[in-house]
Amino acid sequence: MSASPTSTAQRRIETIQAELATLGRLRPGSLSQQYNVCGNPTCRCKGDPPQKHGPYYQLSYTWRGRSRTEFVRRDDLSAVKEQLRNYERLRKLVEEWIDAGIELADLERQARRYPQRKRTPKSRVSTKSRAAARQS
Ligand SMILES: [Zn+2]
Repeated sequence: MSASPTSTAQRRIETIQAELATLGRLRPGSLSQQYNVCGNPTCRCKGDPPQKHGPYYQLSYTWRGRSRTEFVRRDDLSAVKEQLRNYERLRKLVEEWIDAGIELADLERQARRYPQRKRTPKSRVSTKSRAAARQS
């Protein structure tokens, strides 16, 4: 017996939820490298060609309407990169969850429209959580 499209979509959601629970620390933003010149007129950063200081790593992001840029210490670089990867993963998983939720709703609507099709029992969704899903 093959899985119905509805149970396939439901299982995909469960897989997404399980992976979300394993995500570690995260933060939004993008890293950039920066090279600086200093105030010393005889420094190599004023030479020809100039050898600027750096690279310095900068993290920039906008969250809740507020833009921030901060320096990231070289020692923190790999941890910050992992947090950024976790953030991107979170966004991707949320998108996939929403896709699957829309697909599931479409499949259920089709199943109601064509009730002669074979149906498999599916997990119950309470009226309350449906209302919550509509609001978001
Ligand atoms: Zn300099």
